[in-house]
Amino acid sequence: MILHKEEWKSIFNSGCAVLIDQAEMLSKIDAEIGDGDHGVTIKRIAETIKSAVDKWHDDSTLKNFLENLAGQVMGVAGGSASPLWGSFLEGMAQALEDQQEIDEELFKNLFAKGLEAMYEITPARLGDKTMMDALIPAVETIKTSEIDIKGMLQAAAKAAQEGADKTAHYQARYGRAKNLKERSIGHKDPGAVSMALFFTGLSQGINKL
Ligand SMILES: [Mg+2]
Repeated sequence: MILHKEEWKSIFNSGCAVLIDQAEMLSKIDAEIGDGDHGVTIKRIAETIKSAVDKWHDDSTLKNFLENLAGQVMGVAGGSASPLWGSFLEGMAQALEDQQEIDEELFKNLFAKGLEAMYEITPARLGDKTMMDALIPAVETIKTSEIDIKGMLQAAAKAAQEGADKTAHYQARYGRAKNLKERSIGHKDPGAVSMALFFTGLSQGINKL
């Protein structure tokens, strides 16, 4: 399976649609352990991505598209989600030169580089109750997968969802709920939930191609 620009656009739009659809739920669960604005920030990020995708009519490369998009997402007002999501996109761009076709190997590398960029800007790792609890298992699943891109995204969405569910058992060490200490236990991390929803949307998008 090879992804071209139009397929990439539909997959990204599907990821954003799920985030926009679930924005209210994200703010609701953020209100339990944070300041209750995660859905608002995530909706802004998703709308920024969607708008960039919709405007991508020229023959600029995926690398250029992701680099420009990363800058726009980093500039979205509200919380730490914007610089984190922006860094992930910028990391993805670093996997690319001027390719217009994404095959399995390049697809793995895109996500691997995105995760590497995250490791550079956040100290959070598995079990710290942040978006990394969904992102790390999703990307590791993609990296080690021997199936096609559709299968990779399905498995990654499942891994991200399981990772986000597990955050309910963790005590926050970084991020929104770190001051709550053990009182953060019993609540899922909204950042992990939104990241898992994005992978679910990507997977739904590729199933519709
Ligand atoms: Mg917040």
